[in-house]
Amino acid sequence: MEDCIFCSIANGDPDKLVWQNDVAAAFKDLHPKSPVHVLVVPKQHIGNLDDLDDQELAGKLVMAVREVAEKTGIKGAWRLSVNNGAKVGQSVPHLHFHLRGGEAMAE
Ligand code: AMP
Ligand code: ZN
Repeated sequence: MEDCIFCSIANGDPDKLVWQNDVAAAFKDLHPKSPVHVLVVPKQHIGNLDDLDDQELAGKLVMAVREVAEKTGIKGAWRLSVNNGAKVGQSVPHLHFHLRGGEAMAE
């Protein structure tokens, strides 16, 4: 999708990504709320979970989260969250999973 920042990042410079595979990409949150704070997103534009109808892709995204947790050194100690909809704080209209962990994790 044109003019979508997360489409651009996920399909852009691989050096700016923490991890990627054929369907998903992960990159550091611009304003981290914990020592590790990475966003895991589908490469294709999907607004939020209400628009995700593809079960296979849903499964791949969860597996992507697990791989990114391992890659970032927080396996076994991480939190996953999604702000699903502008009314609950979704500020970027491209589905993204907040993956957070690390010592002294803030709320
Ligand atoms: P949400 O409020 O759930 O939509 O989260 C959006 C997140 O995207 C926030 O935590 C922002 O810090 C982060 N963010 C916004 N723009 C960028 C960007 N260009 N690169 C990385 N993270 C970003
Ligand atoms: Zn997008």
